[in-house]
Amino acid sequence: MKHSLQQFKQSAVYRDALQGKLAHSVMLISSDQYALDSYAEYLIATLMCTGEDKPCGECNECHKIKHRNNVDVQYFPKNNKTINSAEITELLDSAFQSPYASDKKIFVLSGANLIDANMQNKLLKTLEEPPKDTFFLLLVTEDNNVLPTIKSRCRKWFLPKIDAQEIADKLAEYHLDTQVEQQVLDYCDGNCSLALKYASNKEFGDLVNFAQSLLTTFRKSSQMIDFAPKLYKMNENFEDFLTILLKNIGDAVNIWCGEKSNNPIANALVRDFSVDALVNIVYHCGEIIEKRARNCNYNAIVDSFLFMILEVRHKWPI
Ligand SMILES: [Zn+2]
Repeated sequence: MKHSLQQFKQSAVYRDALQGKLAHSVMLISSDQYALDSYAEYLIATLMCTGEDKPCGECNECHKIKHRNNVDVQYFPKNNKTINSAEITELLDSAFQSPYASDKKIFVLSGANLIDANMQNKLLKTLEEPPKDTFFLLLVTEDNNVLPTIKSRCRKWFLPKIDAQEIADKLAEYHLDTQVEQQVLDYCDGNCSLALKYASNKEFGDLVNFAQSLLTTFRKSSQMIDFAPKLYKMNENFEDFLTILLKNIGDAVNIWCGEKSNNPIANALVRDFSVDALVNIVYHCGEIIEKRARNCNYNAIVDSFLFMILEVRHKWPI
């Protein structure tokens, strides 16, 4: 049995679902989309399963849930990236109709935090007075943009991280070489969706090596000529590159704060950078991400990024 399914079966939400005491609206919260999808599937299967040890994974209902073809379970958004007003209208109409084949209806709202505030208000009325035997599962990567009134109507469930072995089992499908697989596991920080994204990027190992070399060997402006052209070529991977860089810096700052880390790069950074320098790099990377979002010239962003690293080393020496 998958580790995440074992963890699911230890949750209070599972116990309530088995006993018919589940709240009509449940908000599942995790930065990992894989965890959101997995736990939602377990919960829906528990509610619909006709087997003994729910969710049995064997019965007709469990199979339908796995393949998302139970007519009484509707998933939103259907065709768009985010749930739009037409879909909210469709969902609310459908919520008040009787189930087709089961004794209950379930609505799964992925990215509920991205729903327009007006539409959230429209949804709120139904969450306040839900139709009988109807459940709403709101899946969110973070709950910042969810209206407090919606949150107060939902049972909030912060999902546990996916176990490293379960992530490694998923990674096996990618047939990565052992070193890259270990790098993916080290850098995904327990986020399975991120691990799968890294695993599908053929250049991931190179990005890690480049981030390490930049942090540990880039000290003088004369080296711009070596580093800048390599970064110019990484336009499509620049966000992943920054995430890798920031993960090393984050680990180094944690070491400064007294935590132990077996990340060799982070341990090298602690010897090589002052904590003020590291914190400033993190701050400036935020600005760089904003510039990217505004579509500023990429090569100019790279230049200012590299000069920033040199300047920070100079301004806040160890
Ligand atoms: Zn079943």
